[in-house]
This record gives sequence, C-alpha cells and structure tokens, in this order.
Amino acid sequence: MIDPSPTNSSSVYRGRLAPSPTGLLHLGHARTFWIAAERAATHGGQVIFRNEDLDAQRCRPEFVQAMLEDLRWLGIKWVEGPDCGGPAGPYQQSERRGHYLEAWEKLRDLGMIYPCTCSRKDVTQAAGAPNDLDDEPVYPGKCRPKPGGDSRLGRPATAEPSGAPAPAGLNWRFQVPDGEEITFTDLYLGKQRMVAGRDFGDFIVWRRDDVPAYQLAVVVDDAAMGITEVVRGADLLKSTARQILLFRALGLAVPGYHHCDLVRDENGVRLAKRHDSLSIRKLRELGWTAEQVRAGKT
Ligand code: GLU
Ligand code: ZN
Repeated sequence: MIDPSPTNSSSVYRGRLAPSPTGLLHLGHARTFWIAAERAATHGGQVIFRNEDLDAQRCRPEFVQAMLEDLRWLGIKWVEGPDCGGPAGPYQQSERRGHYLEAWEKLRDLGMIYPCTCSRKDVTQAAGAPNDLDDEPVYPGKCRPKPGGDSRLGRPATAEPSGAPAPAGLNWRFQVPDGEEITFTDLYLGKQRMVAGRDFGDFIVWRRDDVPAYQLAVVVDDAAMGITEVVRGADLLKSTARQILLFRALGLAVPGYHHCDLVRDENGVRLAKRHDSLSIRKLRELGWTAEQVRAGKT
C-alpha cells in the first residue's frame, strides 16, 4: 500500500495554476484557481502559472491570452509564468519536450512502460461499458508484455541499445501494479483509496501522435517546478493515483493534493469548456463582479 504523506510539507508552499488553452475558462475554473491562490496566501506561499498546451490540435493561442487575462481580472497573482518568466521555465508545456523525453527514457529503461498498438476503439470495445463516465476504460492488456519475457518491457527488439529515443508512432503505456492499493489523504476530501488494475488500468504516457500524455507531463513539471501542493478539480482524483505511481517510478517527491468540488450547471451537469454561457468572460460582460465569479455560484 502506498500512502505518500506530503513529502514537501516542511518547505515553502508553492502551488500552481495549470489550465489548458482549449477553450474559455468557466466558473468552475475560477473557483478552483481562486482556492489555489487563497491556499497559497494562507500558507505564506505563492503560485506559478503553467500553460498546458501540449495538444496542438485542441489548443489555441487566443485561449492562452484569454486565460491570462481572465485570471488577472479575477484578482489572482502568480510569481512565475509564460507572461513573466522565472527560474523554472519555460512555463508552456509545448516548450518542455526535452524534460518529458528524459522521463520517458527513464521509464523505458526501467521496463515500466510498453508500446501499445491498440486504437481507442479497440480499447473501448474490449473493455466493455465504462464503470466511470468521467474516466477512461481500464486497458484490457492486449499489448502488455507477457510475464517472464524481456524484463526491459518497453525496449522494442529493433531499438539501438543506446540509440536515439523514439517514442513516436505508438502509444506507450505505464504498466500499473495490478491489485495494489494506492491511497492518499486529500487535504479537502480526506482519505482516498484506489486499486490499480481495477479503478484504473495501464495508462498512456506518450501518444502515438508523438505528444507526451497529460499524466507524464504534469508529474515531470510539478516535480521540476517544485510544486508542494496541487489544487485542482475532483474529476482528476483517479489521475492523482496514476500520477503517484509515476512520481514513485521516477523517484520524485509527491506533492500534497487538494481536490475541489466541481461546479455544476442548473441541470447538475459538470461545467465544461463548451458551457460558454458560464465562461468568466461572458459573466464579466454580463456585469458580474470578480468576487461573484470567484465564489463560483451558478
Ligand atoms: N491542464 C489540466 C486541465 O486543464 C489540469 C491539470 C492539473 O491540474 O493537473 O484539465
Ligand atoms: Zn494495445
């Protein structure tokens, strides 16, 4: 059983705002980011801003500008970021590929990841109905290396022993320790318990389109940027369990976690970037004050 109590708790509080520029930030983001800023202030610390723009297909430069402007308008201040620089930069993930590649290589050399040729459709069909609509299905294991095979799971037979890293063209998955309990104490929601292989399966760390996956990038960056506490929405609870496994595999300190309640619309549907009517921008145009938007009330 793994229960990483925040290993960084004695150091100065350092939080982060890590939005993806795939749409306008909404009331839910406003509330979560405000909580992040407040927690940093309460602990005598600071937050940094990281632009999570890895997915070039979905990210747009105009949304980067909008995120920065909207969060400034809300009254949130960050000490490092894409707009102001800082010692842990660059602060846009699209410029940090070398860091992710290094981690990918390390995981491959440790035999903890393997290439997977399954399409998304293969996985959803083989996995059957998802037990959690907010999350991806458990990977059925088709491409998982067989026990007793080459212990360096990820190394394709054709790869040069010390050749250039080549994650491209295939998905790469992290092999989770089936049946192992991953527990952590959320600073807001309390004790969390997930079972690897049941609540989540082997997950992608590098995508076939040669984009590092969210799980890998976020762990590498939270560690490289010295983040002591992660504040984000409760939709990412299972991702936290995955990320704890990656921190452990890479020998990195696990931050503390504070997962916020999700803001829902009047029909009880969790806000998404398609809820343009509840975007910070729109509400501001409608005459809402920053204080009202920060409170996240619909
Ligand atoms: N960039 C992610 C998102 O906007 C959040 C990442 C995180 O907080 O870990 O959903
Ligand atoms: Zn596969």
